[in-house]
Amino acid sequence: MAGHLSKLVSFQLSRPQSDKDEPRVGRLTFKGRSPIDTPHYVAVSSRGAVPHLSQDMMRDNTSIRALYTAVEDSSSYWSPQVIEKSSHQSQVPPAFNFPASPDESPLRKFIALQKDVLLILGTRRIPPLPCAASSTSSAISIITSLGFGMLEYTDYAEAIQKLRPDIALGMGDVLFGHKPGVKRKEAMGDRTLAWLKELISAMENEEDGTPRTALFAPILPIETEQQTYYLHALQDELKDSVSGLVLYDSASVDAIPESLRGLPRLSLGDATSPHKLLDAMALGIDAFTVPFITDATDAGIALDFSFPAHSDTNLEKRLSLGIDMWSSTFVNDVSPLLTDCECYTCKNHHRAFVQHLLNAKEMLGWVLLQLHNHHIVDGFFAGARNSIHNGSFKGDRAMFKKTYAALPAKTGQGPRVRGYQFRSEGKGGPRKNPIAYRPLDDGNKELAKVILPSPDDDAENLEQQRFPEKVK
Ligand SMILES: [Zn+2]
Repeated sequence: MAGHLSKLVSFQLSRPQSDKDEPRVGRLTFKGRSPIDTPHYVAVSSRGAVPHLSQDMMRDNTSIRALYTAVEDSSSYWSPQVIEKSSHQSQVPPAFNFPASPDESPLRKFIALQKDVLLILGTRRIPPLPCAASSTSSAISIITSLGFGMLEYTDYAEAIQKLRPDIALGMGDVLFGHKPGVKRKEAMGDRTLAWLKELISAMENEEDGTPRTALFAPILPIETEQQTYYLHALQDELKDSVSGLVLYDSASVDAIPESLRGLPRLSLGDATSPHKLLDAMALGIDAFTVPFITDATDAGIALDFSFPAHSDTNLEKRLSLGIDMWSSTFVNDVSPLLTDCECYTCKNHHRAFVQHLLNAKEMLGWVLLQLHNHHIVDGFFAGARNSIHNGSFKGDRAMFKKTYAALPAKTGQGPRVRGYQFRSEGKGGPRKNPIAYRPLDDGNKELAKVILPSPDDDAENLEQQRFPEKVK
């Protein structure tokens, strides 16, 4: 029975890495799902959905072929961890018992994910927040809707067995937010190995013997020498049970043992801009989570780039990678976000409308931007695959760097930021959101601040009108 997990996924490289600084093109196939041509991105979900997009929009208007979900996220629905903390000892996470036929994943049904999209389950959100507590020999520290918690590897294994994602990522002992010391690095390899072995034995001992979930093994973001023991075990003992590799830092590709180089590589960490994506592709990464898509959308930015870049030798300065749609210059602009864009938003709406929606804080504004931004990234990846295939990637990448500068800075206000998954700005820092309701309860001066954000406005005057009895 050992080793059958790896047979669920097949990965063919149509253009393998010829050189160290050369990307590769391949095709990832999972039974029952649409094949994924790589390099490709993996959509990042929040509470099981791609932010701002409904399932039908995602199906009809994006090329999303794979979705990442985290146990840490929405843990009350699909992780046993939170249940233990609460008083309902006997309660089972709802997603565990969600009605699904034997060949379906209850998690897929629970989040209403279309059938042909690959479902990937990992431990932590992307990007993860640093946790105050450190991991133990059996658990990693996570941040859930109920606060800090520990995710035991046994609970994670149970979640995988019950939820049956297509691909589960091994639980890596990885620190976020600060660098591990030497002792800690040794423990990282040992723990990750022990957890991986436990996970494999749990998954290979399914009651009916039918594997449904494939496993991607972590490559740790530390020096190769410091994870040698782990990497050897991966290569010698566990090779047949592993279908792919997950990296937290694209530079860790160097640590991948020779015999595992043919496996698909998913990078979770560092693709924070199109430039970084190209760098990671050049290292031979096949799949990426790309948080900057939703970040740009939240900031009201319409992405504006293509790969290969339309070469213009007369370029005076490098172009911005996006347009800030909050800008009042678009108030009367009835052209599409981008002239040649074929996305739903650009074919049906204009800049003035999107600018208005953002300023009115209408959710549709972010929906339309999210559709456009996914379309731009879809085109970017399709262009990159073509370019690698044609052997022109090196030149195209250099041209892209010459043509484009950075993503524009955020100017407007995004959608209201809520939830445990957002980092607070620290002591004395700005609030995530201005106070909105408390002033209505006690009618103090805060109210004036909310209604009159400009210091030039006559706050006292207004307060006097509203609460004459309180103002002397
Ligand atoms: Zn568009």
